[in-house]
Amino acid sequence: MDIVFAREKRDGVGEGGIQLSGTLEERIERVYQQIEQACRRSGRSSSEVKLIAVTKMATMEKMKEALQYGLCSFGENRVQDFLKKYKLFGQDVEWHIIGHLQRNKAKQLVGKVEMIHSLDRLPLAQLLDKLSKGQGYPWNVLVQVNISQEETKYGLSPDELPEFLDAVQDLDGIKICGLMTIAPFEEDPEKTRPVFRKLRQLRDEMARTRPHLDLSHLSMGMTNDFVIAIEEGATMVRVGSALFSEDEQ
Ligand SMILES: *Cc1c(COP(=O)(O)O)cnc(C)c1O
Repeated sequence: MDIVFAREKRDGVGEGGIQLSGTLEERIERVYQQIEQACRRSGRSSSEVKLIAVTKMATMEKMKEALQYGLCSFGENRVQDFLKKYKLFGQDVEWHIIGHLQRNKAKQLVGKVEMIHSLDRLPLAQLLDKLSKGQGYPWNVLVQVNISQEETKYGLSPDELPEFLDAVQDLDGIKICGLMTIAPFEEDPEKTRPVFRKLRQLRDEMARTRPHLDLSHLSMGMTNDFVIAIEEGATMVRVGSALFSEDEQ
């Protein structure tokens, strides 16, 4: 039986809900359709939303297939896994680091990644700044905010964000592009809406009070909740299971 998440069943949004089944081609098609529909419902253009295929669970075979179907932005959590995959796919792919980044691993990313979504502390910002001299251009980074204040999650608290942004503004080696968050898993994805809305409002507030910053990106939404995240303004969704999980029987 396909898994169809509660909200999709309840209000019939989307076509068939978020199913964890089918061929990769069907899954990609379905995710793009859901992105389209969410954009249409919220009066946005789907060109404003980038699909980042989270490949942490994907085999190399699946990743090759994904590339053939036109997916070209991949997200990885762990530097070790990323480096293995980078060896195979290298420059064919736009790489996004989306997991907590240890400082002793950062050096291995120099010149290889499009964006780091998980900047969450000053010492990491300072290290990236130094390492940028090696790559000759600044890192694109998003600041991770722990909106739901879950202890198990990384990220700055909303209260810490203003001071953090002020502290990193003179670091030429990093280019802050926006904010990222991870919502708690909810059986009913509708319940994640306040988390995404709060990140957007926080972004708007920071952009208003700090006009020198460009905070145009919001990386939010995963398999269970990317539709809601798009309705709340996501410009990047990080989708893994909907594309790569084992078929549910
Ligand atoms: C694994 C992961 C995702 C993708 O999650 P799915 O629910 O499998 O789509 C997105 N973002 C982060 C930070 C992750 O670790």
